[in-house]
Order: sequence, then structure tokens, then C-alpha cells
Amino acid sequence: MTNRKYIVGNWKMNGMQAQLSDIAAIAEIAEQHGEIDVAICPPVTLIAAAATKCPQFAIGAQDCHQSSSGAHTGCVSAEMIREAGALLSILGHSERRADQYETDADVKAKAEAVKAAGLGAIICVGETEEERDDGRAVEVVCGQLEGSFPDEADADWLTIAYEPVWAIGTGRVPETSDVKEMHEAIRNKIGKLMGDGAEKVRILYGGSMNGGNAAELLSVPNVDGGLVGGSSLTADKFGPIIDAAA
Ligand code: PGA
Repeated sequence: MTNRKYIVGNWKMNGMQAQLSDIAAIAEIAEQHGEIDVAICPPVTLIAAAATKCPQFAIGAQDCHQSSSGAHTGCVSAEMIREAGALLSILGHSERRADQYETDADVKAKAEAVKAAGLGAIICVGETEEERDDGRAVEVVCGQLEGSFPDEADADWLTIAYEPVWAIGTGRVPETSDVKEMHEAIRNKIGKLMGDGAEKVRILYGGSMNGGNAAELLSVPNVDGGLVGGSSLTADKFGPIIDAAA
């Protein structure tokens, strides 16, 4: 059995009100492909407007705080992003692990907060180039997964994204054989962490996915979809990736 493909756009710190029309155009393409799941995670400032403009389309956040409220200046909780209209949140992206010093324990706490709020979570893991060159990629990624993995995981709300740090925004993608090896290792690790149901947890590939390489990446065993940055910002770039998954 193969899982339903899941294609998620991570807009990072890109997108003003003027770009809501791009989300609407992407939502229109997604609507033609009921056999797969598609979502866009715009900056938090656009969540409510995007969810209102595209009520049938999944809008997500890129992060949230692990607490439900309190003295955390500048942060937003899982309940807040849900109220704004988000159905999911990306968590533990490597840019947040690097820039905001997020730890595996932070990511795990955030995942549990997201679950408690009734949202989906996409937990990101991935090795640096140095770690890959040292032959430690699988060890590093499985270690991140173990530390970030929620206590009560379920494929209904949990997704994992493998994003090699050196492939993000660089135009470089791993060899297909390396993607295969890593996704298989992640699948086995999820099996050890949660037992039954591990095969249903979707594992996305992320890092320089585009219309030209999506079909090949998405055909690799245990690749259940993609987490897409730069190529998710407009319908003309994201559309071909959605088409490749369908
Ligand atoms: P990219 O980003 O597609 O621009 O490489 C992917 C990501 O960081 O999620």
C-alpha cells in the first residue's frame, strides 16, 4: 500500500497581501487533484486572510510555541494559529533549529501542543553537509527523529519531512539512492518509536524540489510527498510539482 501523496509549500519569510492571489491560484490547481493532499504554509500574517480566501484549501503555519498562552513576547500558540485558520504547522525546520536554536526537545513539545490543538504537524529533520561527508547522515537524522518524536504519534496528524540542510535553497539534491536509504532508515526508526501504524506516517522529501526533479524524487520508495520552499511561491512553479505527485 502506498500513502496518499502530500505536497506542502513552505513560504518561509515571503509573501504579502498581494501574494494571496498566488495562494488562490495554487488552491485551484490542488482542487483538480482530489487524490493527493496539498497545503501552503505562508507567513503567520497571511494565515487568516488565506484561509478566508481559500476555505477549501489547507493553510498551515511554519512554527508555533509549545505553551498555550503566557509571557512569550513575539510568539504564537497552536490554538492561535488554529483560530486564524491553520490546519497544520511545520515544526523544527533546520532554519529555526539554526537561527532560533530550537532543540529536539523543543520540537517534541511543540508537536505535542499542535496535537492537543487538533492540528497536523510536519516535523523536519536533516543532516548538514559536514555530517553527510563524515558518513553520519543516517545516525544524525535518526537521532533528531528520536528526540523530536511525540509520545503519542499517529499518522492522522503526524508527518515527517527529511530535508538535508545542504540541499535547501541550493539547487542541489541528493542522489536518488541516498534519498532511498534515508527514507527507509526513517521508516524503520518510526517503526521502532511508535510500532503499529508507522507505515502510514507520511515522510516528505524537502530541499530544492522543483518541477524538473519532483517526479523522480516522488517515485522513490517511502517518499510520500514533498516540502517545497522556493518552488512553492507561484502557481507556475508549484503546479508542475502538484501534477507530478498526482
Ligand atoms: P527549498 O526549501 O525548496 O527552497 O530548497 C525547502 C524547505 O526549506 O522547506
